[in-house]
Amino acid sequence: MSYNQKMFGLGSKRSIIREIFEYSKMRSAEIGADKVFDFSLGNPSVPAPAEVNATIKELLDTQSSVLLHGYSSAQGDAGVRGVISDSIKSRFCVDMSPNLIYMTCGAAASLSICLKAVIEEDKGDECIVFAPFFTEYRVFVENAGGKLVISKPVDKTLEADVKDLESRINEKTKAIIVNSPNNPSGVVYSEETIKALCALLETKEKEYGHDIYLIADEPYRELVYTNVNVPYLMNYYKNTLVCYSYSKSLSLPGERIGYIAVNPEMNDASNIYLAVCGAGRSLGYVCAPSLFQQVIARCIDAKVDIEIYRENRDLLYNNLTEYGYECVKPDGAFYLFVKALEEDAYKFYERAKAHEILVVPCDDFGVSGYVRIAYCTDKARVLGALPAFKALAEEYGK
Ligand code: PLP
Repeated sequence: MSYNQKMFGLGSKRSIIREIFEYSKMRSAEIGADKVFDFSLGNPSVPAPAEVNATIKELLDTQSSVLLHGYSSAQGDAGVRGVISDSIKSRFCVDMSPNLIYMTCGAAASLSICLKAVIEEDKGDECIVFAPFFTEYRVFVENAGGKLVISKPVDKTLEADVKDLESRINEKTKAIIVNSPNNPSGVVYSEETIKALCALLETKEKEYGHDIYLIADEPYRELVYTNVNVPYLMNYYKNTLVCYSYSKSLSLPGERIGYIAVNPEMNDASNIYLAVCGAGRSLGYVCAPSLFQQVIARCIDAKVDIEIYRENRDLLYNNLTEYGYECVKPDGAFYLFVKALEEDAYKFYERAKAHEILVVPCDDFGVSGYVRIAYCTDKARVLGALPAFKALAEEYGK
């Protein structure tokens, strides 16, 4: 075998989410899609804003093919980066510059680029993530040559645990990924937690004499259902890189558009930005989709209607807890992280499947004994699934 076995491993072993998704398609063909309660995939069910669709049409009618379908600058169109940096300035009071914005194909590309930009494989660099975490972090960190280190959450609340983080930081720690609102828990880390985390990182930077980068993975920033504050990490910590995506905030996951923003206050910001450009180049993530760069520049303040998600969250949380399930009430994202009714989450998933409920067992997310319910679906599916969830709980004697 003369090809890369690590890549073969990644390609041939489908993620559990994809596996469930394939099963769902097969089962829907057998018994009808309305009888399969598929809560596996985080694919937004709310349509993109009408303004986005109108802008696409208008652009196609009025703008040149080169602007819409040609290559942009490798780091993205300068005008588009200007609109984004102005928006960051006015929303978060950060003195952002277009020269610190790098347009990407969504958060996945942004994370891969940022990790590649800061991790030095030959130094044995490590990246800490807070469990529960988006499973692809492992792939991105290892592909950048780093070692993934998992920090355990606070019991019950699933907040990032700064004490646990402290026990895992060492001189090899180069980056920390923070994802809030969180996939899969829906938890928004409090300002108190963020302040404590940032204070710890500053102390550790001084102790070890090198920078530690905070990578804020923010695809769910706009999906928040309460009045909680989602701290903007650049306002708390100098060495912050923000990975933003329009996949969920504008329901555009298939268009692959987002950006990286480098904190202007960062030590060496312009050089880190060049490392970001170099990492983008080395990974082939240059010239993010031109049409959608232009759409974003014109729809920078557009919003999706998150009422449907809020209704689904309330319906599921209120009813499931009444049936005897345990979960943290999520403030954001569109996931409910539910304790399995037996120790083995996979066995629980199998028993739920017998009721045509498809949820994701979460051992790969770094916390065992939980399943994830993605409620970015229509309300009818949630309502249809409630009796099945009730019957499942009763089967466990609840
Ligand atoms: N980060 C988290 C926490 C996610 O949940 C996802 C997608 O579900 C991504 C990153 C990747 O998003 P994108 O579609 O922007 O690449």
